[in-house]
Amino acid sequence: MRTGWAAQNRCYAARAMERVLVLNASYEPLNVCSLRRAHVLVWKGRAEILECHDRPLRSATTSFQRPNVIRLRTYVRVPRAVTRRISRRVLFARDGWQCVYCGSESNRLTLDHVVPRSRGGTSVWENVVTSCAPCNHRKGDRLLEETSMKLRRTPRPPTPVLFIRLTTEQIPDIWRSYLPGLEAVAAA
Ligand SMILES: [Zn+2]
Repeated sequence: MRTGWAAQNRCYAARAMERVLVLNASYEPLNVCSLRRAHVLVWKGRAEILECHDRPLRSATTSFQRPNVIRLRTYVRVPRAVTRRISRRVLFARDGWQCVYCGSESNRLTLDHVVPRSRGGTSVWENVVTSCAPCNHRKGDRLLEETSMKLRRTPRPPTPVLFIRLTTEQIPDIWRSYLPGLEAVAAA
């Protein structure tokens, strides 16, 4: 049992070493990339290493720092609407796993279009929300102003920190200071 756990932990650690946190030139978190990609970015001079692992990266003839957190040298603009496809998991996490209309956490959660598709609403982050099944049913094909229901908060595209939280099994401690608002993000 104990050996199994240790082996699993080593496996975890090995996988974590293969993932690198990427910050924009502004120090805002952007995404997580593979060690290989991070190394190429650094090697080409397009990124600098902010944090690295003790164990170096070795090739046949030389060794390099093994990046853990890197920062791009030039600012990149992220077309969020394009790159961040809508998924229920991310949507529910963005809304704190609560219905945006009544605040319920216990009812079955569904995806609701604030402006229904039948009324011209589109599937963009600003128009989709987490709704419990009863609220979704009650609202039906109506616009909000045709009901007495209210949004508890304005829907916005999720932040990169949310995506990083949802796609990383275990956030390395050293990343935490680069991920503002991480604690507020509910992943489960
Ligand atoms: Zn509800």
